[in-house]
Amino acid sequence: MSRPLYVARPLLPDISAFVNVLNEIWKSRVVTNSGPLHNKLEAEMQKYLNVPTAMLFNNGTMGLLVALKMFDFPAGSEIITTPLTFAATVHAIKWNGFEPVFADVDPDTLTIDPASVEKAITNKTAAILAVHVYGTVCDVNALQTIADKHNLKLIYDAAHVFGATINNRSIGSFGNASVFSFHATKLFNTIEGGLIATSDESDREKIYNLRNFGIKNEEEVVSIGLNGKMNELQAAVGLLNLPLVDEERSIRKALRIKYCELLKNIKGITLPPKQKKVVNSEQYFPVVINENIFGRSRDDVYDALKKKGIFARKYFHPICTDFLPYRTYRVVSVRDHSYVDEVKRRVLCLPFHSGVEQEDILDICREFSK
Ligand SMILES: *Cc1c(COP(=O)(O)O)cnc(C)c1O
Repeated sequence: MSRPLYVARPLLPDISAFVNVLNEIWKSRVVTNSGPLHNKLEAEMQKYLNVPTAMLFNNGTMGLLVALKMFDFPAGSEIITTPLTFAATVHAIKWNGFEPVFADVDPDTLTIDPASVEKAITNKTAAILAVHVYGTVCDVNALQTIADKHNLKLIYDAAHVFGATINNRSIGSFGNASVFSFHATKLFNTIEGGLIATSDESDREKIYNLRNFGIKNEEEVVSIGLNGKMNELQAAVGLLNLPLVDEERSIRKALRIKYCELLKNIKGITLPPKQKKVVNSEQYFPVVINENIFGRSRDDVYDALKKKGIFARKYFHPICTDFLPYRTYRVVSVRDHSYVDEVKRRVLCLPFHSGVEQEDILDICREFSK
């Protein structure tokens, strides 16, 4: 058994392979600014994700900032998003000078609830920023229908769904843009990194400029860009990690099956949904613990695991509307009480990576059968 045991563990390549690439980088002295490794990884990402446009970033947050910038929404526009996400999703809206509007989540998938999205639309709404959370994909058809009907852009935070598909279609090809994170805790990582995918090849130039200070050429700066460039060291890690991703994912799939087998008959425990025709990216394994039925609270289970050196995480608790900058924001819901307020007290992500052994799973699940 491995203790301490964390929810995530960075996938890392063989160190000697990395040192060899470092030697090459040092010899060339090309360390950043669209170097050869960056361009190679970008081409491989385009293939792996099967999208016409795949542009690397130095982290996912920069990718979100640019994805929200690229459509020239008027200042003060409202962007509808979910409160059940990582802080970066909402911060990217505010940093752009837009207003986040929070819609409730769907009780089954825990992704943004399309009916609540529709209720949240006003004449200032410019876009929906939906999040494929934990590895569970959004109701992409319902969201696209709403976006089309109200003439809104549809952007996805795809940080949790690298490599996922719906009906064999790449997750990165839905909506107007999808943003991935390649942070160390994500399935595929470049230590820090990110990517914008779109299904429109003509987005490339705009994203390229925004990623590089708005610089078009030596004479012209054409947009209010930032520094979103991935450097050669990050790209080197990415190139070495990419061949390892599919195996990491299948190991996690086996863990998921084992967790489900051991937890499926326990009353008060809800497992992640099985989504038809979806290839799961296997980012996280969340369970929802209903204390009224199970008899113990999420926090009880969390504390008991912690005592054993097992660090489960209460993702995402607190939710974004609990954060100091967003405390005055309400969650728009089609229900009397938003479901997200219930789920934030009940959700727990269990250790989920190739460092988790069968014995660990048995030990963790024992905590649920007391
Ligand atoms: C990790 C994450 C991000 C931020 O990505 P960084 O690469 O860490 O900047 C954004 N959204 C979600 C949902 C994430 O999990």
